[in-house]
Amino acid sequence: MALDRMTETMQDRSLGTKINPFQMMLQQLDLAREHTNIPGGIWEILRRPERALEVSVPITRDDGEVEVLTGYRVQYNSARGPCKGGIRYHPGVTFDEVKALAGWMTWKCAVVNIPYGGSKGGIACDPTRFSEREIERITRCYTARVLPIIGPKRDIPAPDVNTNASVMNWIVDTATVLQGEAVPGIVTGKSIELGGALGRREATGRGVMFTTIGVLQRLDIDITQARIAVQGFGNVGSVAARLLSKQGGKVVGLSDVSGGYYRPDGFDIDDVLRYVETSPGHLLAGYSVPGMEEITNDELLTLDVDVLIPAALEAQITSRNAAEVKAKVIVEGANGPTTPEADLILAEKGTVIVPDILANAGGVVCSYFEWVQNLQYLAWEEKETNQRLGRIMQRALAEVWDLSHKRQISLRLAAFVLGVERVAQAISLRGVFL
Ligand code: NAD
Repeated sequence: MALDRMTETMQDRSLGTKINPFQMMLQQLDLAREHTNIPGGIWEILRRPERALEVSVPITRDDGEVEVLTGYRVQYNSARGPCKGGIRYHPGVTFDEVKALAGWMTWKCAVVNIPYGGSKGGIACDPTRFSEREIERITRCYTARVLPIIGPKRDIPAPDVNTNASVMNWIVDTATVLQGEAVPGIVTGKSIELGGALGRREATGRGVMFTTIGVLQRLDIDITQARIAVQGFGNVGSVAARLLSKQGGKVVGLSDVSGGYYRPDGFDIDDVLRYVETSPGHLLAGYSVPGMEEITNDELLTLDVDVLIPAALEAQITSRNAAEVKAKVIVEGANGPTTPEADLILAEKGTVIVPDILANAGGVVCSYFEWVQNLQYLAWEEKETNQRLGRIMQRALAEVWDLSHKRQISLRLAAFVLGVERVAQAISLRGVFL
């Protein structure tokens, strides 16, 4: 099975760290509290997941042995609408990690103001140990076990770390068979042929492009004069690089797991994309045009550019290198690329950071479009999806920007406050049941 890192979440924040991710999410929430007037009782609601389900997932291996895995589905809050959040297959999945990710999804959907609550699911497993048929059986069993709480009007999963369109297709099929009716809207991120949305693959990178252009306009930096470096040339980074260069931006730095590449006159991104289409491992390694030089991944992060787009992994800009970062603007395509310590150093320098919770929300916005089309049995043209995505991302940026200036707080804190306040308001308007 081709493992797909596609995701619409705050995904890797907690992978590889020893910090309890749920405690970390609560700390962020408490930090935002100082900037809100949310009453204590409502605050207590916000600090707890609404529903958290643990399931056992027994499967018969290809050799006939039975193995039992553990799966989770957490619905953090549904005050603003049905819950939305991906499913990940990873050995590091824990109940607390899923709770944290479900919380982050709640705030993220609220920041971009789409009518969703937040959720998350996962199975603690190393997917590389299983054949494709075994992954299918794992997925079908997990689906049957969580089916009482998921559905188009309850909770809509999507791909996340190590899950992809095939996994979503098996969920649709399992639910359809068990319920005896078509339920394409039970997941997003499925194949186009089964009701997936045109434009979904590019949506996160496109959202990064919209937020980058919007911030540059506000800072009076002309995109045609902007020098840009992009870390990571996968789904998010390559699309953001291509679309920003189409808008006239000069992408002078690129990197992937094979290393960094610098060309002061800018790269022809279409040419780079043609190269990686057929290069070994689809990597940048070996790409060569006059005027370019190889640099390290660390050097890429500290290039003298206007915009730096980390679009690879978490914790890339840290207390170790933050002081050397020269970019005026950082747009977080990846989840959690900047550590809290680096945030403080960059704030002192006046670096503008567009936080992940806003900058990479294009994926979940497009998932919302997929669900809307499924509920109405419609299929939009890609152009319509892209236009609507632009409107939502630009509006969200304007709201976060204005709040940050009004309350004199960072864009990161403003995004969190905006999201949390919207959820609190929805809870207050609905009232507390009993
Ligand atoms: P991807 O696997 O398609 O691409 C990741 C890229 O990062 C690859 O080019 C890889 O070579 C590169 N990379 C890995 N380690 C690196 C390193 N040390 N230095 C430089 N580059 C390195 O993944 P993606 O879907 O593009 O996701 C990238 C980030 O964006 C992740 O943090 C993900 O959580 C986040 N995100 C993705 C989506 C989405 O829709 N794909 C949505 C929201 C957030």
